[in-house]
Amino acid sequence: MDTASILGVHFHAVTKQQAVDVAMSRIRARRKGYVVTPNPEIVDLCRHDGDLMHTVNHATLVLPDGIGIIYAAKILGQKLCGKVAGIEFAESLVSAMAKEGMRLFLLGAKPGVAETAGKNLCEKYPGLILAGSHDGYFSDAQQAVAAINDCGGADVVFVCLGAPKQERFIAEHMEDIHASLFCGLGGSLDVFAGVAKRAPDIFIKLGLEWFYRLLKQPSRIGRMMKLPKFLLLVIKERLFGGKGK
Ligand code: UDP
Repeated sequence: MDTASILGVHFHAVTKQQAVDVAMSRIRARRKGYVVTPNPEIVDLCRHDGDLMHTVNHATLVLPDGIGIIYAAKILGQKLCGKVAGIEFAESLVSAMAKEGMRLFLLGAKPGVAETAGKNLCEKYPGLILAGSHDGYFSDAQQAVAAINDCGGADVVFVCLGAPKQERFIAEHMEDIHASLFCGLGGSLDVFAGVAKRAPDIFIKLGLEWFYRLLKQPSRIGRMMKLPKFLLLVIKERLFGGKGK
């Protein structure tokens, strides 16, 4: 797979369908792997945290989530196949899993949310098996590991604890969990459960989903202000090859 390097993070240049095909081959082969969906905020965290950078760059799939990554690739003259939003990848993967009767475990979000998300996904994609679910507010990670293993394991685990908690959880615990593929998917369970809504299509098409989320949740402003800083760093990288840091 071709990659595009953005401030040290190596994104895969794949379409959503290609990403699903890679993921399904992994699951069928029962080879362990994981998927990350970094946005500019996570790229920035990686720049200051070598372990996180290592985890992200060793993922089976590093998908460009967010219009900021697409702009960055354009500025740096790097080739990507467009944005692959984590939640859209997740839904397409679930659809493919359902056709093969695969098992999904949902980990994350507030109590009850993962359960509702699972129920909704099973209704929408007959054939999918919900292996189990667990909220994301555990005090001991072993609780979550045991919850997955005690239900007989799964083909895929959606780990939705927010970044970088979910990436760290995957790196630290995936070897102890009976599952093939782990996907770090942020707030996706809230959307699948109907607790949070994605932006209307027009915002998504115009690359303004971030703006819609800001309108709905003005407290995100602190996080959003990182985007202009991120793009400035990318421009510096382009002009000075990173020497201007
Ligand atoms: N979350 C969790 N455990 C925690 C902190 C957060 O399960 O200790 C969940 C939170 O309830 C939400 C998700 O992680 O469902 C993070 O959502 P956010 O929108 O911040 O993530 P993004 O999609 O922006 O990465």
